[in-house]
Amino acid sequence: MAGYVWKGATEQPAPKKPAAPRIRISACGTHAGYQAHLYYRQEACPPCKKAQAAYHREYRQRAKRGEITPRAHLVDNCGTNAGYMRHVRRGVDACQPCRTAHSKYTSGHKRRQRAERKAQQTAR
Ligand SMILES: [Zn+2]
Ligand SMILES: [Zn+2]
Repeated sequence: MAGYVWKGATEQPAPKKPAAPRIRISACGTHAGYQAHLYYRQEACPPCKKAQAAYHREYRQRAKRGEITPRAHLVDNCGTNAGYMRHVRRGVDACQPCRTAHSKYTSGHKRRQRAERKAQQTAR
């Protein structure tokens, strides 16, 4: 704010702009753009899908490095079966990380159940 003087300034402060819409479709190719598509119940365009995939990738990498703490209400649990189920509940196409997690979950489910039962029996 250096040099900014209210009184006596020749420049008038800019008139207040009308409140911008919270979600702007023009943000295509970004995570926000992807969210906007979801919000308007549209199929996300390819740039947005790409951005969303990159966002997931980066997010998960950062979470792995401990830079961010994943929180259920902030993250859609993407990349997990729970995340997949959330996509399904919302009626939107699951993103790639979620799809991968879901197929892993389904394929490993029976095997895991058997292993858990075995572990319980040996624990007795
Ligand atoms: Zn888009
Ligand atoms: Zn997802």
